Amino acid sequence: MIAPDEFKSPLKPTWCPGCGNFNMAEALRRALSEIGWEKHEFAMVWGIGCHGNGADFYDVAGMHALHGRALPPATGLALTRPDLHVIVEMGDGDGYGIGLGHFVHSARRNPNITVIAHNNQIYGLTTGQASPTTDHLMRTVSTPDGVLEQPVNPIGLALAERATFVARGFSGDIEHLAGLFKQAFAHRGFALVDVFQPCVTWNKLNTSAWFRERVYKLEESDWETSNLDAALALSMTSFHELTCTPEQCRIPIGVFYQAADVPTYEDGLTATQTPGWKRAEGPRDVSAIVSALG
Ligand code: SF4
Repeated sequence: MIAPDEFKSPLKPTWCPGCGNFNMAEALRRALSEIGWEKHEFAMVWGIGCHGNGADFYDVAGMHALHGRALPPATGLALTRPDLHVIVEMGDGDGYGIGLGHFVHSARRNPNITVIAHNNQIYGLTTGQASPTTDHLMRTVSTPDGVLEQPVNPIGLALAERATFVARGFSGDIEHLAGLFKQAFAHRGFALVDVFQPCVTWNKLNTSAWFRERVYKLEESDWETSNLDAALALSMTSFHELTCTPEQCRIPIGVFYQAADVPTYEDGLTATQTPGWKRAEGPRDVSAIVSALG
């Protein structure tokens, strides 16, 4: 087993003190250690944002993708290297904004990828603009009159596209979060763990204390994870509002839904049943083609 700290790179994180990214990184390293994968058995892809700087802070195989585009290269990896476990880390502004199309199509495609979304409901790296998940009417530097749109509902969207594993975590509970990550890793197919991860610098409303007063664990409430209709209904009714009190809005964390034994996208592609590097037959003799071309 690899110890959690062995997944750290020599570089020190540059995140603001108190940022939820620290706890998420701790939970992820613990989950990777406990699931027992060797470093050559998985790869990670990061989008752009404060979370994406994590690409520098892990000693693992992977790549830092373009803004909102972590899922396409991750899908390529999953298809060409079905022997690998592929993990995507993306942000709310990144994956639910410019990358929303990739998110929806990946969910319905069901590649074997775990998606961890750092949902701090703000653009942190670019200094506090409203993101797709910022609460309705919240004032930010880009919305002085308050956000006029309703926020994107990642859990509801993923369920509507029949994602086969859909969960929500909270960065203030590392042990619970690590457990969710391990369940997502063990799932075969598209697995989303959307994580409320407070941005202490730019989101002064949705703080750790704010969430701590409102979250409850689904597994402590007789929740049945195989009921898609119930999960979809819960994703809508537990969608929090800007002004809701702890009594008015209770926010579930845990596994909303998991479907068993659904074929992955890779399963339907006979050409990718074997990793590309194993299918290579060695250098081809192209001299006849070269001669024919004169
Ligand atoms: Fe974290 Fe926000 Fe600082 Fe970014 S700006 S590192 S999300 S606290």
